[in-house]
Amino acid sequence: MKRSISLNCQKIVIKVGTRLLTYDTGKLNLGIIEKLVREMADLKNQGKDVVLVSSGAVGSGIGRLGLKRKPVSVQEKQAVAAIGQGLLMQCYEKLFSEYGHIVAQVLLTREDLNNRKRYINSRNTLLHILKFGAISIVNENDTISTEEIEFGDNDKLSALVATLIDADLLIILTDIDGLYTANPRLDPTASCIPLVEEITTDIKKVAGKTEEMLAKGGMTTKIEAAEIAMASGISMVIANGREENIIRKILSGEETGTLFCTKQGHLRSRKRWIAFAQKIKGSIYIDQGAEQALKEDGKSLLPIGITKVEGLFASGETVSICDSGGEEIARGLVNYSAEELRQILGCKSIDIINILGYTGSKEVIHRDNMVLC
Ligand code: GLU
Repeated sequence: MKRSISLNCQKIVIKVGTRLLTYDTGKLNLGIIEKLVREMADLKNQGKDVVLVSSGAVGSGIGRLGLKRKPVSVQEKQAVAAIGQGLLMQCYEKLFSEYGHIVAQVLLTREDLNNRKRYINSRNTLLHILKFGAISIVNENDTISTEEIEFGDNDKLSALVATLIDADLLIILTDIDGLYTANPRLDPTASCIPLVEEITTDIKKVAGKTEEMLAKGGMTTKIEAAEIAMASGISMVIANGREENIIRKILSGEETGTLFCTKQGHLRSRKRWIAFAQKIKGSIYIDQGAEQALKEDGKSLLPIGITKVEGLFASGETVSICDSGGEEIARGLVNYSAEELRQILGCKSIDIINILGYTGSKEVIHRDNMVLC
């Protein structure tokens, strides 16, 4: 069966995971890498823009050092990634240049996308690399990233990169055929779901069930990536990177893997940054009146509707806005710190000056800096 999604895709982000790129020995799987590079080089020859998000730094570092186990401490992981990343790039540089293509290494941490200025810088760099006709090879900057600033998985990173450059399609290649209804290794009736139009709780449950089939990331992080991509108007496909000519098949509209189709009404670039790129630093709970003002009347959040503040955050950071039942209904950039908010919650904006001794803004979160969930 043909799918109509991909025929006109111009900007394509392709994510390849460690399980495809390396053997259990930690050595690079040259057979697969060569096949995928050939396919991507062919896309470039067709005039498409390609960005590759490649894992495998830690994996190939393990292989290069001949380690018997995965690195445990952060420092060990960072050192192993530093060794493996060079090896990976050497391999990509060699293979892509055989087809006459130029590659660029782009290493990102979550902090680069948290900060609006660095977010825009990263976007400009990636777009300029595309302009030069080169292929960015993106990975998390494992050598400097620690828990606080890491993405944690390259599935999410690939979705953020896709939104960063306004891609048309994100392809996540892994070692299973797509999202299954159950774990096919345990349940013979399990089948691959061809199309997902909405990420429902059922879909999340299904993803959780197939979790143990994959290494780092698993299906859950792929579904999180799909949520980001879909909300940004980008289609996403999860497919088996071992399948012959998989990228060509996806782009010719063949029904392979699981397609996550875009929602209507895309978030604009700045709103995407608020919704996805930022780390959530705390939660603000609001009453029903404020909920209605936000959801139905398109208003800003004022201190009067706030009932509780959780977490430690500074002014300018991103927080969740939750309804009285604790459900997240919006996200936004907050104008006051958590400490200040605890003093002014429930008050009228006019009283802020008397309580704090100064007034920053009458809105706690301005509408322009807010995204409804
Ligand atoms: N950045 C890690 C690496 O290159 C991989 C993270 C992931 O696979 O999600 O080794």
